Amino acid sequence: MILYNTLTHTRDEFVPNEPGKVSMYTCGPTVYHYAHIGNLRTYIMEDILDRYLRYSGYKVKRVMNITDVGHLTSDGDTGEDKMVKGAKREHKTVMEIAQFFTDAFFADCEKLNIRRPDVIQPATGCIDDFIKVITVLLEKGYAYEAGGNIYFDTSKLEQYYVFHDFAEEDLEVGVREGVEADGNKRNKADFVLWFTKSKFEDQELKWDSPWGVGYPGWHIECSCIAMKYLGERMDIHCGGIDNAFPHHTNEIAQSEAYLGHKWCNWWMHVLHLNTNSGKMSKSSGEFLTVSLLESKGYDPMAYRFFCLQSHYRKNLVFTYENLDNAQGAYRKLVAKIASVLREKDRGTVDAEALAALKAKFVAALDNDLNSSLAVTALYDVLKASASAATKLAAVEDFDKVLMLNLVLAAKKFIADEDAKAAAAKAAESAAPVFSDDPAIRAIEEKIYARAQAKKAKNFAEADRIRAELLAEGIVLTDTAQGTTWSKA
Ligand code: AMP
Ligand code: ZN
Repeated sequence: MILYNTLTHTRDEFVPNEPGKVSMYTCGPTVYHYAHIGNLRTYIMEDILDRYLRYSGYKVKRVMNITDVGHLTSDGDTGEDKMVKGAKREHKTVMEIAQFFTDAFFADCEKLNIRRPDVIQPATGCIDDFIKVITVLLEKGYAYEAGGNIYFDTSKLEQYYVFHDFAEEDLEVGVREGVEADGNKRNKADFVLWFTKSKFEDQELKWDSPWGVGYPGWHIECSCIAMKYLGERMDIHCGGIDNAFPHHTNEIAQSEAYLGHKWCNWWMHVLHLNTNSGKMSKSSGEFLTVSLLESKGYDPMAYRFFCLQSHYRKNLVFTYENLDNAQGAYRKLVAKIASVLREKDRGTVDAEALAALKAKFVAALDNDLNSSLAVTALYDVLKASASAATKLAAVEDFDKVLMLNLVLAAKKFIADEDAKAAAAKAAESAAPVFSDDPAIRAIEEKIYARAQAKKAKNFAEADRIRAELLAEGIVLTDTAQGTTWSKA
């Protein structure tokens, strides 16, 4: 499998540290608000990676943190803790909103068929681990105390800007943008490992540490949680592209300084979901959630399908028109699968034909997770001149990765169609109910008699009744739902 690596900027053959096993870490949500559909794009595409690795036969161990402390509004070390801000907004405690939005996040994931990671670890449950790693960083001379906080000293590294996607000067501007410089920092890029600064007095959650009562920085959480559950050498770390700097850059700095060797081989970043007015974010602009889409009549599977139709390394623009198109295409796809399911003689599975269909699907995903071509491979199955049994076997197989509930939705489609047809038939054969008003009843009885005549193909009689009613000043209109009448 070829997988793009943000660290090397190359598409490389994916080779895990241990044959057959993959250790994978995902930055989890900051649980101060609902996840928006931009966040969920990232989790959907990471889910495709997770599921495709499993489909390919790897034993995957996937770990995700829950950020419930330390993520400041700037992504750097300035502003308020997002959790404290969220708790104030909701008039609740930090732990109350953490639990509420964690549950909401996993409920959204379930709707979108995003697999639950094997380990889910809230940051507040690992304070001792953070303290242990920070202590070692201080001992090794990679960290220093200033103004009560503990900082990581980026000047101690040969290379700090490991992703070198950006010019260093641009990043420095980004870090300083709109915020007062932290005079405690020896170097502009240094970042906080542990806060005890009085500035954060209204921080609700604080813990004892060798450096005073305080709380951890956001970046140290992910390093420690990943190392705790996945060991010293990890295969893949993923997140949205905004996490590459400073979050992942800082994670690499402190983890490798602590370990004394390379930490993670692959970095997978999902590009953003944008609206026409820019990046979708929790703190600004339009805030779209899965529940909101559902309330507007969209199926969560249509959103997953929308995401799969584009490559994870391309920005994706969300508009309702685009989502309508995706929902329409998803429904057509389901209807096509339903017609395969309806075939009376499905035949048997042709192993050779199935292997050829699978080869296209695997080639698409082996090519840096090209989910859009994987969807094309699915359309190819439905167009193929194979038996219905072979087609259904391929659809079920692909859906282990795509997770679009394809067969389930097709069965529901058939059940709905059958129910509609049965209702129409029942309505047709049911005894008619006429109005109590004698004048109206007379008209309705004639319309009914005309319908019966038409059913018996006695069109002369049907026309005669229409003419008779017209002579009485009643005009008939035939619609798909039946005949209506009005006065001329
Ligand atoms: P957060 O809850 O803010 O910590 O973000 C959770 C995940 O969503 C991270 O991996 C972010 O990089 C990612 N993310 C944030 N905004 C977007 C967006 N507009 N599109 C895609 N992913 C995003
Ligand atoms: Zn993280």
